[in-house]
Amino acid sequence: MPSRKPADHLPVCMYVYFGSQGIYTCSKCSYELFSSKSKFSHSTPWPAFTEPIHEDSISKYLERSGAFKVSCGRCGNSLGHEFINDGPKKGQSRF
Ligand SMILES: [Zn+2]
Repeated sequence: MPSRKPADHLPVCMYVYFGSQGIYTCSKCSYELFSSKSKFSHSTPWPAFTEPIHEDSISKYLERSGAFKVSCGRCGNSLGHEFINDGPKKGQSRF
């Protein structure tokens, strides 16, 4: 059995990036999710953001302490997680 690395399961199609506008949109419904302005470097291969672009860009529920399960606010496409206090500054989240 080949070992399964996390990289094999990267949800690279969760967001679609429009470089000219600097906006990441939902891969399913094209709703605007994140702005590259809120993007920051993180050790994971996923794009990391501090906040969604619109208040209703995402819906989320508390999955475990410090982590919300995040999905598209319009179509429910799974977008991963929000990690509380894991952003570049104290008190910021990482999406
Ligand atoms: Zn969507």
